[in-house]
Amino acid sequence: MNKESISGLILAGGRGTRMGHVDKGLQPFGGTTMAAHVLARLEPQVATVAINANRNLDTYAAYGVPVWPDDTPDYAGPLAGLQAGLRRCATTYLLTAPCDSPFLPADLAERLHEGLRAAGADLAVAVTEENGRRQVHPVFCLLKASLEPVLSAYLDGGGRRMDGWYPQIKVTEVLFDAADAFRNINTLDELRDLDTTPSTPPRLADVVSCLSAYDPDALPVRDAQRIIREFVTPVRATEMVALRAALGRVLAADIVSPINVPAHDNSAMDGYALRGSDLTADAPARLRVIGTAYAGRAFDGSPQPGECVRIMTGGVMPAGCDSVVPQEFVSVENDTMVIAPGTIRTGDNRRLAGEDLKAGSAALRAGKIVRPADLGLLASLGVAEVPVQRRLRVAFFSTGDELRSIGQPLDEGCVYDSNRYTIYGMLQRLGCDLIDMGVVRDDPQALEQALRDACENADAIITSGGVSVGAADYTKQIMARLGDVTFWKIGMRPGRPLAFGRIASNGRSAFLFGLPGNPVAVMVSFYFFAREALLRMMGAEAPLALVRARSAATIRKKPGRTEYQRGILASGADGQPTVTITGSQGSGILRSMSEANCMVVLHDEQGTVQAGDMVDVLLFEGLI
Ligand code: AMP
Ligand code: MG
Repeated sequence: MNKESISGLILAGGRGTRMGHVDKGLQPFGGTTMAAHVLARLEPQVATVAINANRNLDTYAAYGVPVWPDDTPDYAGPLAGLQAGLRRCATTYLLTAPCDSPFLPADLAERLHEGLRAAGADLAVAVTEENGRRQVHPVFCLLKASLEPVLSAYLDGGGRRMDGWYPQIKVTEVLFDAADAFRNINTLDELRDLDTTPSTPPRLADVVSCLSAYDPDALPVRDAQRIIREFVTPVRATEMVALRAALGRVLAADIVSPINVPAHDNSAMDGYALRGSDLTADAPARLRVIGTAYAGRAFDGSPQPGECVRIMTGGVMPAGCDSVVPQEFVSVENDTMVIAPGTIRTGDNRRLAGEDLKAGSAALRAGKIVRPADLGLLASLGVAEVPVQRRLRVAFFSTGDELRSIGQPLDEGCVYDSNRYTIYGMLQRLGCDLIDMGVVRDDPQALEQALRDACENADAIITSGGVSVGAADYTKQIMARLGDVTFWKIGMRPGRPLAFGRIASNGRSAFLFGLPGNPVAVMVSFYFFAREALLRMMGAEAPLALVRARSAATIRKKPGRTEYQRGILASGADGQPTVTITGSQGSGILRSMSEANCMVVLHDEQGTVQAGDMVDVLLFEGLI
């Protein structure tokens, strides 16, 4: 076979109806997208590959191949894709494969070509046999480029079905053995299952074995964070949302700029546009003003040497002009503008086309959490819809017989459940979909049921309480029974106990964070362990930003554990950021968190801090 005679076409122009109208080809798969997978398998088999798509054309173009939309309107189906391909195909044959078939055979082109030649056919289509049933795969086909007029006539006559077209041409079927290779992916759930099952998820024991010294009963914060980071895996499902709805969401793909921003060279000032070559070194330059260039309209004159154009900020630079002199630096006599020598240099006050963003370059990267500036940036590119990761579903509940919910009487020895509210607030800030499961009693059956329910409905589970050594705490046993869960004593204060792992129930699994019960410990453990893991599951990278500040007073601290002290950061007398520890630091005293605006992070190896020493601080403001 001469592969130079075949062009490949990836059919990605469908509506993605069964996937909830997402753009199928752009769904994440195996670390890239489905279309990228198909591209990688098709490329070695043919001379060139193009993509047939009707949405997100720029995103597809970023793969560095031509993108061809349908000519026949209204999503007319795969035949419209074939038509678009045949019309632009520069080789004898066109080979098509759908964008949702990442396992397509490596010998697809060769076998179809063989079959077509042997049968003297116009089109060769792949078929497989499974359990005695013959199945035709019409979108895996090789066809002659010369069929274009026949296909166009069929489409123009309203024909849409592949097999409806076949009687007009000579079709041959080519039998392939591996039915799996033609498997396509139709729903997001199917995609998620396929994408996570082939690479068996790591086991905690394997992850932990990478650490040189591992002691679950004295685990440094850094090691716990590392194990968690390596164990959790991103949830791979995305959706398209309208621009405004993307605020706070995680971008699922790079956004490639379809245009230059700004689109034209334009003026950064109100002034006069001129040719730099008209500027003189020793005497004032006198230039004739031939008109005005307003923002939003092209100036249609063409200034000659010795002429200039009055121009407004944002006005498109008139042809031949390369510099702008601000109006306050010149004098104007009748229709002549006079500019003193040395006022400006060539190129001054001109914004170049594409200086903000060049067409074809990535304006925003996948994994970014969309902020207000990003909304504006996307709007400046004319982007109306944005691919984002689907929201992470997080279930959470509190454990403990002593807990009462708001509205219940506070019996002797009981406390109101506050953890569920701090956890709610922290998860909400991360932009998760929440499943609040209330308070669960210290009862084995109730705990097991709650964990199973959570597991079957959520990507991650957050519990509080029951993970230390209390006698009535069944939480640990049940968690251990339901999956791969480990129980740590972490070298930190507050928040020593932590359960972490993955549990499974009825074929579904979820990552589990069993946080301690004490209200301050819950928040500290959430921020320093759960937060990063959840963001990673959401496909985002947003490491905690610690800033340096001066400690106002001595802070007593023993090396060998990490301490998180609640503090207030303010400007000191000399204007330097200075942090003061808030009153009592007990791990049950939530007021210390509420009054603080930051936490001082005293690292493992650090000893007592002297007044005036610099320390690391985590600001609460802006913390997501
Ligand atoms: P535990 O880890 O379950 O032994 O809980 C440690 C401490 O935290 C106990 O004093 C609990 O009463 C308290 N605690 C546990 N869960 C909550 C909660 N949801 N709200 C407030 N306090 C809690
Ligand atoms: Mg408890």
